Amino acid sequence: MRGIIKEFSGVRALDGVDLALSAGQVLSLCGENGSGKSTLMKVLSGIYPSGEYQGEIWLDGALYQVNNIKQAEQAGIAIIHQELALIKELTILENLFLGDEISQFGVLNHAAMYSRAEQMLARVGLTISPDTPLVELGVGQQQLVEIAKALAKNARILILDEPTSSLTESETDVLLAIVEQLKEQGVSCVYISHKLNEVLAISDVVCVIRDGLHIGTREAQGLTQDDIITMMVGRELTELFPYE
Ligand code: ADP
Ligand code: MG
Repeated sequence: MRGIIKEFSGVRALDGVDLALSAGQVLSLCGENGSGKSTLMKVLSGIYPSGEYQGEIWLDGALYQVNNIKQAEQAGIAIIHQELALIKELTILENLFLGDEISQFGVLNHAAMYSRAEQMLARVGLTISPDTPLVELGVGQQQLVEIAKALAKNARILILDEPTSSLTESETDVLLAIVEQLKEQGVSCVYISHKLNEVLAISDVVCVIRDGLHIGTREAQGLTQDDIITMMVGRELTELFPYE
């Protein structure tokens, strides 16, 4: 992403942000509330169409211009928001295939969908019947179902916007382990979290934005929580430099 500028009725939420991500890399995006993290990821994931921001996005050497989430998914970019988007009244299976039933199977075939759903759930470590109603799941398990759904779209870049804010400690551990596994499979992740211990545990690089400005991108190795906070709040800026 190069020089991304996004305005909301004249107010600049993003003021020329650069972001680079390699295959299999985990990049944490840090910044205080309102710094522009979610907006930047909404640009990348097609929520804001290419005509609604300035700057360029390149994916595998080609200009990336999408106009909606579906097109972004087709390009391999999936986003999981903090607010869960699953439908409580449905089962896990129904949620997993919502909107995709026809394209994936031609006819609705429960047996085929069931075994496919089991595979999808196994990938995120869930050994639970796909016919389980969603209401019976905890928030963490629901989050894992969302991730399973995103992965089934063959996401090459998975964006997790504050995924652990409502997870228990053990659910968080499961999620972090999944991100590690994905990384080994070559999937890249953009991870947004205020929990800097998680950020340092999981990231290859940490990118900090403040007031819509790209402050710096640093290798996570050797970085401390204090370093990140310093970048986030803007003290001792002269000592900081982007690593790229
Ligand atoms: P973060 O995710 O880092 O907390 P956001 O990207 O959500 O920050 O917000 C960045 C800035 O843009 C904030 O000042 C926020 O109020 C503003 N903003 C975000 N979305 C909208 C919107 N849809 N309309 C108007 N302003 C918005
Ligand atoms: Mg946000």
